[in-house]
Amino acid sequence: MEPAGGASGSRRLLRRLRDLMASGGTAQERLDRIVTLIAGEMVAEVCSCYIRRAGEMLELFATEGLRPEAVHRTRLRVGEGLVGDIAAHARPLALAAAQTHPQFAYRPETGEEVYSSLMGVPILRGGHVHGVLVVQNRTRRTYAEEEIETLQTVAMVLAELVASGDLVNPVELASTEVNGPLPTRFEGARLVPGLAMGQAVLHEPRVVIRRIVAEDPAAELERLREGLARMQSAVDALLAAEDVVSGGEHKEILETYRMFAEDRGWIQRIREAIRGGLTAEAAVQKVQDDTRARMHAITDPYLRERLLDLQDLTNRLLQHLAGEVTARREMPEHAILIARTMGPAELLDYDRTRLRGLVLEEGSQTAHVTIVARALDIPVVGGAEDIVARVEPGDLVLVDGMNGQVLLRPGEDVQQRFRENIRLRAEQRAAYAAIRDLPAETRDGIRVSLQLNAGLLIDLPQLDHTGAEGVGLYRTEIPFMVRASFPDVAAQTGIYRGVLYQAGDRPVTFRTLDVGGDKRLPYLPPVQDENPALGWRAIRMALDRPAMLAQQLRALVTAADGRLLRVMFPMVSEVAELVAARAILDRQRERMAAQGILPARVEVGVMMEVPSLFFQLDALLPRIDFLSVGSNDLMQFLFACDRGNPRLAGRYDVLSPPALNFLRRLVAASDAAGVPLAVCGEMAARPIEAMALVALGVRVLSMPAAAIGPVKTMVRSLDTRALSAYLDRHAASPDHSLRNQLRAFAQDHGVIVE
Ligand code: PEP
Ligand code: MG
Repeated sequence: MEPAGGASGSRRLLRRLRDLMASGGTAQERLDRIVTLIAGEMVAEVCSCYIRRAGEMLELFATEGLRPEAVHRTRLRVGEGLVGDIAAHARPLALAAAQTHPQFAYRPETGEEVYSSLMGVPILRGGHVHGVLVVQNRTRRTYAEEEIETLQTVAMVLAELVASGDLVNPVELASTEVNGPLPTRFEGARLVPGLAMGQAVLHEPRVVIRRIVAEDPAAELERLREGLARMQSAVDALLAAEDVVSGGEHKEILETYRMFAEDRGWIQRIREAIRGGLTAEAAVQKVQDDTRARMHAITDPYLRERLLDLQDLTNRLLQHLAGEVTARREMPEHAILIARTMGPAELLDYDRTRLRGLVLEEGSQTAHVTIVARALDIPVVGGAEDIVARVEPGDLVLVDGMNGQVLLRPGEDVQQRFRENIRLRAEQRAAYAAIRDLPAETRDGIRVSLQLNAGLLIDLPQLDHTGAEGVGLYRTEIPFMVRASFPDVAAQTGIYRGVLYQAGDRPVTFRTLDVGGDKRLPYLPPVQDENPALGWRAIRMALDRPAMLAQQLRALVTAADGRLLRVMFPMVSEVAELVAARAILDRQRERMAAQGILPARVEVGVMMEVPSLFFQLDALLPRIDFLSVGSNDLMQFLFACDRGNPRLAGRYDVLSPPALNFLRRLVAASDAAGVPLAVCGEMAARPIEAMALVALGVRVLSMPAAAIGPVKTMVRSLDTRALSAYLDRHAASPDHSLRNQLRAFAQDHGVIVE
């Protein structure tokens, strides 16, 4: 017999499975018949079904081919052996020579030593692994992609049998999974700062799929077409809604989202699953399960985010297919939304006046939903693993976006302390607001210019909220990253004009594209750099692709018609790079001037990020109007220490003698040349580091909006004279760091650095 790969084989198998599921007998009897059927259809000597039990165990529940006495005896931990590996990673495995795989765990009671090849898939439901389905062959064979697909489809049907609760009592799993009413704490990622307290609202009303196996694939394909059309018009309606489009980016994000709704590859995969015998909704679910499983293996943050957006869309499509489109949902007065993942459009569906906080199992700084939540000022914690399974709607939840913590069902004393923190934070915000219009001036009369780091239009209202004097770093790559295709000159001009318009008479320092390395644009071909941070990025890429840089500079010149234009180049390693980039800028200025478009003044700067440039300051300083220290990159190159490697976090300190000495000499050289020096890396955003920078003579600090209040508070409480002398005295210190001394100094001299 033909193995059950391919659409018709898969359909035949599914139909038989459906009949079997509908036949009488206990769940165990049906499962026994199912494994026999699959072994026959897939032309395998063995088919076994392992089901997850309490305590992260997988138990052999049924087998055709292995020794019957192993059933209900053989148990593997999740992560143990090949079966455990499939469960742990929620991904299929197909091996021609299974026993040579390092994960192979031999169980003598099964008699499986005679089987060479193995193919297994997770039994998934709602993103959780409920078991593993495996086939094995005596002779060595390579399983085809379609066979894996078929086994995955079968696993979907089995998932329904498992979920029925007839095989394993669901109470068994619930009782051991910390699912009870006990308080639970989650450590996650800080995505949007802030504190929130409220009742849990579970996002994703699960759509229950009642029919899995299709009678008529043609009819299902038609249902899919209709569902897609309904969903697309719903997204269009969302796009047209007035209140969504306030910031510009919201619209842009939704546009990207619409692009996914038309994604051929995605729709194609759903169609294939329908042709394989599934109903439209089961096919959508299957593609979603596959995507979730694939996500575990993807580390590229941009790709992960796009996959998350795709899942958002999948949920919508499922609801449209099942006819369960939920309108804005009933929400308690203080709601904390809990989701595995969520798209920006979904967040906007909720009543914003009641939404206090958001907790995600996935999610990252650059996720679209995070960007939108930040714009709405809703605290967000991401990476709260498994929270969806452990929370009950209505549970009390505390969200601490500052520390990346979530507390479920906290005790009374914890609630008390949290309420107190919320009150203190409100007081602190009021205190920062009160000094918003006061100058950042030290007690000894030194003026420091505090500026904003920005990258999206929705960041710019922060200029007014914080009283920042300008945008010290506008990361132009960020609007490029949230788009689906490379913006042309007109689109770029529109973005930059919008930024300048919102900034009013405050200066904006535009940094040219800092992409390449690990900051990838989805529409540029990926580059495999062995050391991305040291790779083909920023100015290096720009000079090799001068047309791209020329377009950007032309857009900047055009947008700044009649006003000040400040441009800065990232990752410059030698003066020749500045000279080359500047020549491109000059050409674009001439070209636009011929059309009567010219900025009132143009200032050109570079970022000090690569130490080699420091040794060419004599040639550099006369050629630039300002210098800006990108301390994030500078420190990683100065210490030869990857800024993203958690094992090295804390290994070197920016408040150490080498770092401070570097900065001291840089300040001296730029002061002597009369070139203003700014610091725009994260260092400038932390009060104690900012204190050291001001004492060393830095007069411009650029930082995210949330840092302006704390840094201004520090500046206004600082007297630099004693600290500058103190730092000079410690220049030759052999210590690892001066952090403790600086903290003690702040405490002794009443400098507010918290
Ligand atoms: C820096 O390196 O300090 C910097 C500001 O640039 P980015 O963080 O965007 O690399
Ligand atoms: Mg940098």
